[in-house]
Amino acid sequence: MQATTQLLHSIPVDAQTGAIAVPIYQTSTFVQDAPGVNKGFDYSRTNNPTRQVLEKIVAKLEGGKVAAAFASGLAAIDAVIKLLESGDEIIAVDDIYGGAYRLFEKVYKKFGIRVTYVDTTDLGAINRAITSKTKLIWIESPTNPTLKISDIEAIAAIANRYRILLCVDNTFASPVLQQPLLAGADIVVHSATKYIGGHSDVIAGLVITKDEDLGAQIKFYQNACGAVLGPFDSFLLIRGLETLHLRITQHCRNADLLARYLTAHPLVDKVYYPGLPDHPNYETARKQQKDFGGIVSFSLKTDTEEAATSFVTNTRLFHLAESLGGVKSLVSHPASMTHKSIDAEVRKKAGVTDSLIRLSVGLEDARDLISDIETALAITGATIQKTGEKRKQAVPENC
Ligand SMILES: *Cc1c(COP(=O)(O)O)cnc(C)c1O
Repeated sequence: MQATTQLLHSIPVDAQTGAIAVPIYQTSTFVQDAPGVNKGFDYSRTNNPTRQVLEKIVAKLEGGKVAAAFASGLAAIDAVIKLLESGDEIIAVDDIYGGAYRLFEKVYKKFGIRVTYVDTTDLGAINRAITSKTKLIWIESPTNPTLKISDIEAIAAIANRYRILLCVDNTFASPVLQQPLLAGADIVVHSATKYIGGHSDVIAGLVITKDEDLGAQIKFYQNACGAVLGPFDSFLLIRGLETLHLRITQHCRNADLLARYLTAHPLVDKVYYPGLPDHPNYETARKQQKDFGGIVSFSLKTDTEEAATSFVTNTRLFHLAESLGGVKSLVSHPASMTHKSIDAEVRKKAGVTDSLIRLSVGLEDARDLISDIETALAITGATIQKTGEKRKQAVPENC
């Protein structure tokens, strides 16, 4: 059976009523026949029928055994870090999601967990960073916003050799484009807020494991710490999953067209899209992903915040907002938004220059999206020219 069919038919019909949509069990507790004798549920933090359906679908979709749904992507990441003990070390991708960085540095550091950040596209760098205390390798692929691709299979081989866990944040690719557990990773996490939810209407996170015991540990922390996903939000993710393949296919198609359009534009400097043959990780992306994703980043030849601001405030279809993966296109300016708290030098070295712009390409008709970008770039070009003329006028004649 093909993946799309498999996903749709892994969503069960309700056994009791025949409802084709998964019922929302909006209940906190479950009546017991006698103490400890119940129908498989006793309290919704521990287990809820709607959440359970979601978890089963997602475990299968990622090629794993156990899945746990959390109240946010960060709560999911938090549950994975709780597997560690004081004194343990993590090796993490250097352009990690800002929220994960904050969790590592501002929360877990004081509990004695140390993180080394390396360029995980360089296998040698990972090998050199491993110590006897390394317990976890943490990667994102593609990364945000320059879409670096790490070789999951090769990193899994390293992790295996040293008996280190490998966790992949699969948010940007989605399980439609890659299934890290099948490539050898131990754990997958998602901010389901993004592509899995897909409609910018829910905050949610997922952890999926290949191993039952590891999954049981995650489930323990899900219940013990309590950052669970509610029944209604679980329903929204199930509904999102029904169109995941369809949406991802179209996101990729639109993103590819936009990336190629931007490459040819005279005001554009660099275009970051793993599907462009000049992307530094193009070959790895081709090997491990089914397609190249729905995010495109680019910088302007006039590398100023002013130029970027002009662009992001003059698009009409691309709304200026944080987040990604929804049906409507979004634009963001990482240097002043998601990456603002990062030191300017470090930020620029990671490719997040003053004019870098990130597009979350939605499901509008690509022709309309291109025309929107064309207009915004034309206004930006005029703004740059006007600023240049003003600067010239400001210089006295006799200088
Ligand atoms: C958004 C995001 C997160 C955090 O998820 P929330 O649902 O916002 O808590 C984690 N990782 C990546 C790659 C993200 O884009």
